[in-house]
Amino acid sequence: MNILLLGSGGREHALAWKMAASPLADRLYCAPGNAGIAQEAECVTLDIVDHAAVIAFCRTNRIDLVVVGPEAPLCAGIVDDLEAAGIKAFGPGRIAAQLEGSKGFTKDLCRDNNIPTAAYERFRSAAPAKDYIRARGAPIVVKADGLAAGKGVVVAQSVAEAEAAVDMMFSGGLGAAGVEVVVEEFLDGEEASFFALCDGETALPLTTAQDHKRVFDGDKGPNTGGMGAYSPAPNIDDATSARVMKEIIQPTLRAMKSMGAPYKGVLYAGLMITRDGPKLIEYNARFGDPETQVLMLRLMSDLVPALLASRDGQLKSFDLRWYAEPALTVVMAAKGYPGDYKRGSVIEGLDEAAKVDGVQIFHAGTKAEGGKILANGGRVLDVSAIGKTVREAQARAYEAISHIRWPDGFCRHDIGWRAVEREASKH
Ligand code: AMP
Repeated sequence: MNILLLGSGGREHALAWKMAASPLADRLYCAPGNAGIAQEAECVTLDIVDHAAVIAFCRTNRIDLVVVGPEAPLCAGIVDDLEAAGIKAFGPGRIAAQLEGSKGFTKDLCRDNNIPTAAYERFRSAAPAKDYIRARGAPIVVKADGLAAGKGVVVAQSVAEAEAAVDMMFSGGLGAAGVEVVVEEFLDGEEASFFALCDGETALPLTTAQDHKRVFDGDKGPNTGGMGAYSPAPNIDDATSARVMKEIIQPTLRAMKSMGAPYKGVLYAGLMITRDGPKLIEYNARFGDPETQVLMLRLMSDLVPALLASRDGQLKSFDLRWYAEPALTVVMAAKGYPGDYKRGSVIEGLDEAAKVDGVQIFHAGTKAEGGKILANGGRVLDVSAIGKTVREAQARAYEAISHIRWPDGFCRHDIGWRAVEREASKH
């Protein structure tokens, strides 16, 4: 098979690494890719916003399957356009991708189908949103309806902070994403990420993960796209997993199907595990980043047939096998991230770092120039490792990092702390 992967981050490097290992993959292309992905796939310059250009590339290069990494092209309907052109594509169509593209859409779907989630209201102007906030009191959560690259959620500790978030969103602070706002109940509990592979009708649970969103040690500082992750999530046991499937994932699939927009692709549920059980915080319509990096390390089976089965509606009799060992990834970011940062600094020591047992280094934002690897983004590397315990995976990842020479980069030093503490308390 000839496969085209769309995207350029650590998630796509992990997917490329796994797909390149498939005996089914003849040629693997990635647009636009990065310096790490270039070790697994042929990187091509293609503007993925230009669907006609992507279709033309697929025809010229006889692409059998397009795998879409990020959410923006999914919400822009690239899967619909490719399929209409007779090209198989992995991921949801435009309407199904609204599960990520519109928080209001997802909240209404939850309400209509009794899917456990935070109580909420949708607003198109500031005054009624503020009335609702004052009536409910803090803590309370304010969310831009649309895609806002991780910046659209304010967990407000006071009414004033929530009102300021409403003003920021309605005054255009997040562009079109904030034309509509959802205000919702604050959920108390511990978060986890749950992934399911869907084919429109059947959902196959993948595995779980937890991530660290804050930039600094101790889960402090501003939110980021994610500074590290590990899998499995220690707070999701088999019983909780069964509940998530029955109470959240399956009713969602049924609802999307009856709407005429069956959901295919990865459904990534951000969950709060509360005293009353798991509740949906949000959906993403694609693999997580950096969670995919740890998922791919733990996936024993071939990924390619699974993606095809999702696209073809053949998941009913499908099975995937996973390594029981946990995996962990530490993100190395450019100093200044998630604010302003510089590009172009040289990264050395990657080969030595990759020799540490159980370690895989995925590139999130790099480019190769003159035989050197240069930083080319905010999140730059995902130093990932598998181990017998989370503690061992953590030690291996940080040992690898100790070999990386990149003065302009930084990472958190406590990724996995919660899981490591849990392990310690069991012994
Ligand atoms: P989201 O983009 O919806 O995943 O929200 C980003 C982060 O905000 C989540 O990972 C949670 O940490 C937090 N968050 C979102 N909604 C809620 C909620 N209703 N209650 C508590 N925390 C929330």
